[in-house]
Amino acid sequence: MDKIKYELTEADIPRTWLNPAADVGTVHPILDPVTRTPVTPEALARSMPPALVEQELSLEPEFEIPEPVRQLYAQWRSTPLYRARRLERALDTPARIYYKYEGVAPTGSFKPNTAIPQAYYNKLAGKTGLVGETGAGQWGSAVALAASLFDMAAKVFMVRVSFEQKPYRRTLMETYGATCTASPSTETDSGRAVLAELPEHPGSLGVAKSEALQFAFANPDYGYTRGSGLNHVCAHQTVIGQEAVRQFELADDYPDIVVGAAGGGSNLAGLAFPFLRRQLAGAERVRLIAVEPAACPTLTRGRIAYDHADSAGLTPLFRMHTLGHKFIPPAVHAGGLRAHNIAPLVSRAVEDGLMEAVAVRQNDCFEAGVLFARAEGIVPAPESTHAIRGAVNEALRCKEEGVGKTILLGLSGHGDFDLVAYERYLAGRLPDDALTDEVLQAGLDSIPSPALV
Ligand SMILES: *Cc1c(COP(=O)(O)O)cnc(C)c1O
Repeated sequence: MDKIKYELTEADIPRTWLNPAADVGTVHPILDPVTRTPVTPEALARSMPPALVEQELSLEPEFEIPEPVRQLYAQWRSTPLYRARRLERALDTPARIYYKYEGVAPTGSFKPNTAIPQAYYNKLAGKTGLVGETGAGQWGSAVALAASLFDMAAKVFMVRVSFEQKPYRRTLMETYGATCTASPSTETDSGRAVLAELPEHPGSLGVAKSEALQFAFANPDYGYTRGSGLNHVCAHQTVIGQEAVRQFELADDYPDIVVGAAGGGSNLAGLAFPFLRRQLAGAERVRLIAVEPAACPTLTRGRIAYDHADSAGLTPLFRMHTLGHKFIPPAVHAGGLRAHNIAPLVSRAVEDGLMEAVAVRQNDCFEAGVLFARAEGIVPAPESTHAIRGAVNEALRCKEEGVGKTILLGLSGHGDFDLVAYERYLAGRLPDDALTDEVLQAGLDSIPSPALV
């Protein structure tokens, strides 16, 4: 058969989330930006329901998945693991390539894995609405879906350029019942401040995050949601890797290499850390590879320092690789993964040599994405093409060296809503978004000083 699919039964959907904080080195405290002392659980609880505060600070190895959440997961989980035989043939490689496909979720990416538990815990805590920020629209769609599943309201601040360029993502959110607002907006202080300086501001993820946070503080019935980065978000995503481990048992194989796209780091964490836990317990060593865009090279060119997760500096300080919270990636970048920072857990794994990081250019990513679509029939999300590029590079190395390794790549979502980027690539109109040293330096200069490491 050309494409082999490994599926689990409903009974095999994980019953717990793994907590990667129990596996990854020293965990550094989150700091209050004013006092620069560790934030208290009470301070975190101002924008997070109690169960998530507990998960965020916990070093327990796992958390039980509440049954209502697990039942909603069962609407599309387990997600398939495929062996990509046609891609292997197209590359003429001795490597065995597998992909874990998260695009079967209702919104087309892995993000509902955490949006649903965040909605559940916020509802338990008495919230009647959810608010969040979104760039390309995938997180906003997941928040809108999760809110609708728990009969909650949803408010999404969407980066203005995407709001204008991706009208269908917005329509999807509205279909689920959410209100989607272009950011910067006139609805919040931080939005108004940005517009006063630059009325034509295209928006950024950091600005949208500041707006969503201010909306949550002004509307206490709304719970603020987080699409990536935090420990509890990475933990929720471990359903991906836990399923993959079981699916490799069915395949009677085991990965030598696990590759994922790295923006905020959560899908990579969810796929890779369950394999790391097995390795730390004595199983085979697995090379874990984070692939990021050359336009937003957080892990390969950023610094490890304490920084904010939003551009206005409203969030606490997290110790992580960062390009500076004021970093703005080149406007021509179409591949997503635009966060200036990365999950502290992923950052730590890279710092400690448990994970590697590489940066790739967007035309090389779309080239790999188109090759993948023609071989496997799925148009990957632009973000996911980074993982594909990383896996293809490893498969080509196997060919050069004449060794047949097993490669697992995280196909984090499909690209059916992202065809404008493909249109530009196919027309040869996608510039290779080199990052200038000036832009990089301007970002790094926004890391709070004196820098704390
Ligand atoms: C959001 C998203 C990403 C990047 O987020 P991470 O937190 O780095 O995982 C990657 N792929 C898709 C399809 C996404 O929606």
